[in-house]
Amino acid sequence: MEVKRYRLTSMNPINLGREILYKILNFLTRAYVLFLGKRGDGMERAASSKERKKAAVAENKALLKHFWDEFVELYPTEEACREGLYSRAADDGSLNCRKCGKSLWQEGVSDRNVRCRNCSERNWITAGTFFEDARSIRPWFAAIWLLERGVVLSSSQLHELLDIAQSSAHNMLLKISAVMASYMLDHSTLVSSALFLESFRKRSRETPARMHPTVEEDEAHRTSNESCSQNTDQNCDSEPFSSKTGAADLQEQEKTVCDLLSGAPTHFDDLCQRALLRTGDVSSSLVMLELYGIATRLPGDFYALSRTEPNSGHAGGSISRKARADSGDGEHGTGNPQAHNDFVEFIDCFLKGISRKYVQNYLASYWCHLDRSCWRPGALLDACNQFHAISRREMLAYVSPLMVKFPAAHAQECS
Ligand SMILES: [Zn+2]
Repeated sequence: MEVKRYRLTSMNPINLGREILYKILNFLTRAYVLFLGKRGDGMERAASSKERKKAAVAENKALLKHFWDEFVELYPTEEACREGLYSRAADDGSLNCRKCGKSLWQEGVSDRNVRCRNCSERNWITAGTFFEDARSIRPWFAAIWLLERGVVLSSSQLHELLDIAQSSAHNMLLKISAVMASYMLDHSTLVSSALFLESFRKRSRETPARMHPTVEEDEAHRTSNESCSQNTDQNCDSEPFSSKTGAADLQEQEKTVCDLLSGAPTHFDDLCQRALLRTGDVSSSLVMLELYGIATRLPGDFYALSRTEPNSGHAGGSISRKARADSGDGEHGTGNPQAHNDFVEFIDCFLKGISRKYVQNYLASYWCHLDRSCWRPGALLDACNQFHAISRREMLAYVSPLMVKFPAAHAQECS
């Protein structure tokens, strides 16, 4: 009976109304508290990110001042830089006479044109080397010196420090980062360039007229799809009776090119020579291999095998959005959203945006800044010394591939 009475009272319309009102109020209060908390969290995060950026910029500024002062003291003149460069190059044998192979290194070398003491041959010391086009060695030497000490450099900073045109400074930094990028294979994972869409805030030659820089990403996908279908068409044309034969031929060519690739960078011209194929066929095979995730294009027209497992070909203009959605754990993601956010913050902090065209170069610079054991003092200078010349034309023609190399969280031992 008591139970019955209880039920009766609780079903009383006034009590029921109160109960519902109480529940609604309770719900609204909880929602408001949650909203305030979230808002507080968001504001806290924004503030801490702002603080972090401010601290990073200040730290970099101090680092730059310290190492710049050191550089000026050690290398006050062009001659001092030249001597520094040559003595370092002599150690690894990259400064030998082109005729007799003996070391050209002589103390007090003040010119790039040196007569060999062994065979009297005149040698242009920097011919064919990374420094071939450099009118003056000192700006290069300074940039390398600062970068291998972990300083983040922008073209405007270099322009101010060295009194060179900002475009020259920009070009210099791109070429140096191309050298770094060629060493990235064993220290990176392949990710979709679309992951960094929010950083694409600067225009390049690839940005369509009157469009936002991010449109470059979709353009890159469109171009690669087009060249893919063009390649298939070309093969179909050469075998008009069977389009299937064309596809089979293409696979055969891809296999030939693939067999020539290794983990070490190989130049495009070298591949053409060894593949005994037409330049266009090598080029189209490389596009396909790149799309399959088997090959990676490196700055300076170099190619190498990708380190990650090949993935199936993918296409579509909206791929950038899809890859972004996958950024946390998808096959095109870094597998570590924090790592990807850190890079975006790094770009935000020091460069205020980049162009998609050179995203691979910026990823390489970021790696150099992070991996202090790999790019310790002297390492970058040695890497540049052992690198070939990169022409301005080559650098202008370079476009980061759809899958770019992202520095691995735990870098492997550097050799
Ligand atoms: Zn000689």
